[in-house]
This record gives sequence, structure tokens and C-alpha cells, in this order.
Amino acid sequence: MTDTQPTVADGSPAGTRNETEDPAKIRRTDHYKKEYVQAFVEKWDELIDWEGRAKSEGRFFIDLLKKRGKVLVLDAATGTGFHSVQLLKAGFSVTSCDGSAEMLAKAFENGRQRGLILNTVHADWRWLNRDLAGKFDAILCLGNSFTHLHEERDRRRTLAEFYAALKHDGILILDQRNYDKILDEGFSTKHKFYYCGDQVSAEPEYVDESLARFCYRFPDGSAYHLNMFPLRRDYTTGLMKQVGFTSVKTYGDFTEDTGDADFLIHVAEKS
Ligand code: SAM
Repeated sequence: MTDTQPTVADGSPAGTRNETEDPAKIRRTDHYKKEYVQAFVEKWDELIDWEGRAKSEGRFFIDLLKKRGKVLVLDAATGTGFHSVQLLKAGFSVTSCDGSAEMLAKAFENGRQRGLILNTVHADWRWLNRDLAGKFDAILCLGNSFTHLHEERDRRRTLAEFYAALKHDGILILDQRNYDKILDEGFSTKHKFYYCGDQVSAEPEYVDESLARFCYRFPDGSAYHLNMFPLRRDYTTGLMKQVGFTSVKTYGDFTEDTGDADFLIHVAEKS
């Protein structure tokens, strides 16, 4: 597939998707595998802009983990490897997991280019402990990834799998877009966090209580879509507590202030 190949609504090459399916009706957890096609994966780094992202995040996750003495980290939504690489460079022991083989291959290559060998595991969160051995001090599920789970039973199951893969005093760090803001006030962004590339736009095309369909437009004219479940903040933290996490603290855009944040970061404690 070339970068300029025309794509249909879900990012797959024209002609490969069931053209009769209304894109706003695709609300299936397994859909993420079709969304992260090779060309989109190649462009993902252009979209997230590693340098800009490193600057905006600063040492937030590193300090959070170090302060709690966490060493063994599972990067559950590795994507193209941004956090795995940052954490390896900071001295953590990192296992890099993702359900998309394309993403993991790109992450491995990104690590190799920086002189690092990523320990990759190809696993879907819903069956994490079947495919992954060992217990972790911390699990990271970052980059608005949990939102890919469209069915409630998959969200519960994933959180339960994360809980089981943590040591008795482990923590889960999971982030999400501030969907309450999008659902209640409409979309606006400070364009400061995550999607730092100024050449690329990431905006919702359709939103209702169970779907946020975002379009990512690149300077070469190509466009890709992600269909996501718009997690309300209290709903997410409620689920975390229901599966057993004892407390959840939420940050907004890497600060204590969650008010007008574009992104929320939940830190859930197992004990
Ligand atoms: N964390 C990376 C970042 O911040 O750049 C990647 C974020 S990307 C939005 C979401 C990632 O979650 C993708 O790599 C996708 O393959 C992965 N993912 C989505 N659903 C998954 C599932 N059920 N099991 C495992 N990985 C999943």
C-alpha cells in the first residue's frame, strides 16, 4: 500500500471494505485491527510527533512511576513505541504489548533505530493473561487507547485482565480524551498534547453517547478514521473501582487541574 492510495472511511484501501456499511454504525471492539492499517501506522508517528510529545509530557509518567518505586512496566498499548522507548531510556524494565502486529513491528523498528531492543508481546487485552506471563508493578494504557473497546463487557474484561496482571500493590495508568467536554460542549482543543504535529488535524466527524468518530487528515490529502467509544470520566473511574482498584486519582493534561483538560490521566491503585 502506498501513502497516496485513496482510502475509504475506515482507512482501508478503497474497495476492501463493505461499502454498504454506514461508518457511524461500526461500534465493534475488534474494529481496531482494521483501523490500524499499514499506511496509517506509518503516518502515526508523523501524527504524534515524538519530539513535541516528549516536550509536552515532560517527566510526568517517569516521575509518577519512580516516586512509587515501580520498575517492571507493561506498556499495554504500545502503538509505535513512544512510551516504551522513553521508559527504557529512563531505566525501567518494559514489556511492550499491543493487539496490532503492524503497530508492534513499527515499535520494534523505532526502538532499533534508537539502539534499543523492545521486548514485544502480541496480545489482545481481553486475553492478556493467557498470552503474557508474569506480574507487573505498573501497567500503562496510554494515547487514548482504552476508548477502542466498544462493548461494556470488553471494557470490564480488559480492566480485570490488567488488574490480574499487576502485583498486589501495582498501579494502572490509563488515559483518555476528555469526552465529557466533547459530548457536553462540543469539540475544541488546545492542540498542545499528544497530537502535536501541526500539519495533521484530528477532529471528530460524528459524536453521540456511544460513538466518537475522529478523522485524521494528513498534508498529502490522505484521511483516516478511528471509531471510538466516548468514555465519560465518572464511568471510566467507576468501572475501575468495580473491578477492584481501591482508589483512582485523575490528572488533566499532566496537571492536577482536570477542569478544561483535553486529556485525562487516571492512576488506579490496586492496594
Ligand atoms: N499508546 C500509543 C500512543 O500513545 O501512541 C498507541 C495509541 S493508539 C491510539 C491505540 C493502540 O491500542 C493501538 O496500537 C491499538 O492496536 C491498540 N489496541 C486497541 N485495542 C486493543 C485491544 N483490544 N488489545 C490490544 N491492543 C489494542
